[in-house]
This record gives sequence, structure tokens and C-alpha cells, in this order.
Amino acid sequence: MTTKQTTSPGLTRRTTLGALGSSVLVPSFARRAFAFESADVVVIGAGLAGLNAALNLQDEGLSVIVLEAADYIGGRVRTFDLPTGPTNAGGQTIGPYYARVRDLAYRLDVPLVSPPGRMPMANYVNGSLVASSDWATSKSNKTIGREKSVQPGALEFFYLNNNNPLPDVESWIEPEQAQYDVPLAQYLKSKGASDEALRLLSVTINVFDVSTGSALAYLRDVKRLQWGIAQSDDNNRSTYGASASDGFEFSEVGGGTQRLTEAMAAALKSEVRLNQSVRAIHMSDDGVDVKTLDGSVFKGRYVISAIPFTALRKIDVTPGFEGRQQDAIRYSMHNNSLRVFMEATEPFWENDVGDPGLYTDTPIERVFASTNEEGAYVLNSWINGNAAYRLDSLPTESVAELVVDTLAKIRPASKGKVKVMKVHSWAKHSASGCCRHTYEAGQVGQWADVMAKPWSRLHLAGEQTRSIENGMEAAAKSGERAAFEIMERAV
Ligand SMILES: Cc1cc2nc3c(=O)[nH]c(=O)nc-3n(C[C@H](O)[C@H](O)[C@H](O)COP(=O)(O)OP(=O)(O)OC[C@H]3O[C@@H](n4cnc5c(N)ncnc54)[C@H](O)[C@@H]3O)c2cc1C
Repeated sequence: MTTKQTTSPGLTRRTTLGALGSSVLVPSFARRAFAFESADVVVIGAGLAGLNAALNLQDEGLSVIVLEAADYIGGRVRTFDLPTGPTNAGGQTIGPYYARVRDLAYRLDVPLVSPPGRMPMANYVNGSLVASSDWATSKSNKTIGREKSVQPGALEFFYLNNNNPLPDVESWIEPEQAQYDVPLAQYLKSKGASDEALRLLSVTINVFDVSTGSALAYLRDVKRLQWGIAQSDDNNRSTYGASASDGFEFSEVGGGTQRLTEAMAAALKSEVRLNQSVRAIHMSDDGVDVKTLDGSVFKGRYVISAIPFTALRKIDVTPGFEGRQQDAIRYSMHNNSLRVFMEATEPFWENDVGDPGLYTDTPIERVFASTNEEGAYVLNSWINGNAAYRLDSLPTESVAELVVDTLAKIRPASKGKVKVMKVHSWAKHSASGCCRHTYEAGQVGQWADVMAKPWSRLHLAGEQTRSIENGMEAAAKSGERAAFEIMERAV
């Protein structure tokens, strides 16, 4: 498949290759220690960021080698083929403003489809199972005032959408907004959130911990999402719960999001090298040597790290990062998400409160429900942050048991009607080692300006280097940015 990558304004198409030329393979009789391949740019990581960087560089005539630690393409875009069909364990929803992701899908002939509607969620809070329709008046609802009429899963959006002081998304980085670089819990309390509301929204909020995560970084994300969400008086919506009914186009990739990253890899002239985990990057005046665990060496003029800092901090980089950038790479927090995918053999919820999904204040957090094309019921327990890290200390089978047993306790009707298909912890089961980067309070001021700063011949991409975009669009944009930085240098 050929790409029809468009050239960005201000950049001219260059067809001359760099000094090293493309893929010089030293003869096979050479001793292994001296064998190497080379390209203009070595890209580390075959997630959306690395692949988009590689496509942009290739389109400008530069040769690229992409190294990937895992045995599949896509990183945090991963689709499992489960008995109920292709299932995304990572990146899934494509927002209306995802210009790059949509453009890639269009150019690579990857179909985008409308997301299936969300099924309603009951609440299991303070020891009682309550239908969503009965929540506002339930005895187990211990929130106060206007909070009472808001579903627990929607409290996050209720507070952060209605109390967002940022005039626009770009302003998050401006000095006058530094006052919001405080713990989310502190910010929410100042807006009137009760202790019970804080406890309930800490289940849904996608930070390591609500008492330490930066309010400013989260307000940025909510501000960006507002762009795709009609402003309405409906307080009962989840932060990521906008849909086509808002008049904006939300999409998913037909057959699973991994089909998009596979199409991107297929459009590269040089095959992605799977099972090549990078352990060292050595930079000099002449270029870059990238060494992988099996002893292979890849040489380039430049290198792009398109891996999360959870992975980069394990690589020996010389010369080493310095100052605030070194601190950001070593110590920045990356949240976890743990997903447990199950099939419900019967719609057991019809025998209790009726809502198929479930929000809980237990260790299994939330259970989302959907149906596949054949009408099979798919449940997935989605556990975030600290709660997910706690479960990582258990063997995978014990996590599966815990989820099924807890569900049976909460909803006795589910007993014997739920089969676990897959357990996936992003911190434990992926080379990325995380779900997403999060800023702790105070870290926006400390680190935001150095997260993407090039270091010698090393350029930084990946979701954690984002400024205003979210999720997959952030990753794709970061790859494009790193590629442009190199094109400017490589003239
Ligand atoms: C549970 C979950 C749900 C999500 N839902 C959405 C959603 O609905 N919408 C949305 O827009 N976004 C969503 N996201 C976020 C989105 O998936 C990510 O932001 C994006 O995929 C990150 O891409 P990346 O290229 O920056 O990093 P990654 O995808 O992590 O790519 C990095 C790659 O580097 C590889 N690697 C790591 N270490 C090394 C090494 N030493 N050597 C070589 N290779 C290495 C990894 O294996 C990986 O393939 C979700 C993420 C998760 C986890």
C-alpha cells in the first residue's frame, strides 16, 4: 500500500537521502558485534507516535528504521480477538477533532464506524445496588445538595466542566493558570465538592490519585473535550461520554483500532522490527548508535524516542539527560488501567435492577456493558490508577477470580453467568508500562516545557509530550512534530 501523505505548509518535499543513506547492511560474514543497519532516523516504538513520525519522515525522502520491543504493532492501541469478537484494550474512541487520526484512516483506507451506544449503569455504593433511575433518592447516596442528582460516574464532569476557569485550552501553560497546578482534591473542594463526592469521583478520574494529581492538567483535558461536546444542562454525563447525539462525529476503527496502526506499518518501506527492545542510545557528533537487547546495533543521524517515559527511563542514554528534563523522564507519573473482559451468558441484570453496566465503590470499580453484532453480551471491568496498581501484585488468575466473585456478591443474579475472556494490565502486560502520563500537582510548572525538548540528536515523541490534544490524536501529533523537528535539521 502506498501512502498519500500530504506535505505540511512550509515544508518542501526533499528527495535526497541523508548522509548515511538507507539501510546499509554490513555483510553477513562480519562478526555480530560489528554488524549494523543504518538509516537517516531510528524510531523507537511502533505506537501511533512512532509510526506517524516514521510515515512523515519517509514522505520527505528520509530513510527510517522502526524498532519495537513487543511482538505486535500498535503499543497502547491493541485489539484482542476474543470469542465475542475484536475488542480494544486500549485506544478506542476517535474524537470529532482528531484531525490526524481521521486523516490517516482515510488515506490508508481503514474504515471508521460509529461507536455502539453505551448501556446504562447501575450503582453499587455504600453496600447497596441501586438502579440509575433511583440514585438521586437512594439512602446509599450520601452526597450533598446538587450532587445528589448526579450519577457517581458523572460527578467528575459535573465539577470540572462547570467549574473550568481556563479561557481556552491553549492557556493551560500560561503563568496566570499556575494557580490551578494544585491537587485535584483541593481544587474540587474549593468548588464545593463534598468528601463523599470526592471519594466517588476518585473511581472514574484518570489520574494516579485524586489527592495528588494536578487540577490544571485535568482542566486542560476537560477543556479540550468540551470542544466536541454540546453544552447542555445535562449533568449526568461522563467526561468521555459525548456521542453522535451531541451533533459531533465520534468514531471507532472497524475491526479494532489496531487495524489502523497495522495499516500505518504496512505503508512503511522498511518493515517494523518487532521484538527489538532498545537498551542503549549513544549519541556523538557523527550520529547515533541504538542498541537492542539481542545485541543488534542500528545507526542513524537522529533518533526519535516514541515510548513513554516509563520505558525511556530504563534505557541507557549517553550523553545523559540533564536538569529538569532528567527529572521529568525519571520521575513523572504514569497512570495504570487494568481491564477485565467478560462474556455474560445471559442478561442477568434483568433479574435485579435492570441496568447492565455498573459503577461501584469496590476494587472492581466500573463494569461497562455492550453487545456485539451477534447480540453477545460483553462486560468489561475498567480499573484505574492506584486501584489498578494494587491488583498488579496479584497473579492474573486471581484478578479474574476477584472480579467475578465481587460481581457475584454485588449482583447475585450474575453468579455462574459470567466468563472471563481476558485480563490486561497496561502497567504489567505491556512494554509501554502504563496507560497514560499524568501530571502531579506542581509538575506542570516544573516540567511541561521540557517534556518534548530535543536532547542532542534525540527527539521526543509519545502521548506524554502532548500539549493540548488527548489520547491517540496527541500521540499522532507528537510523532508529526518530532519528524518536522528532524526535517528542519536534516536539510
Ligand atoms: C485503557 C486505555 C484506553 C484508552 N482509550 C482511548 C480512547 O478511547 N481514545 C483515545 O484517543 N485514546 C485512548 N487511549 C490513549 C491512547 O491509546 C494512547 O495515548 C496512545 O495510543 C499512545 O501512543 P504512543 O505512540 O504515544 O505510545 P505507545 O502506544 O505506548 O507506543 C510506544 C511503543 O513503544 C514500545 N516500546 C516500549 N519500550 C520500548 C523499547 N525499549 N524499545 C522498543 N520499543 C519499546 C511499546 O511496546 C509500544 O509499542 C487509551 C489508552 C488506554 C491504555
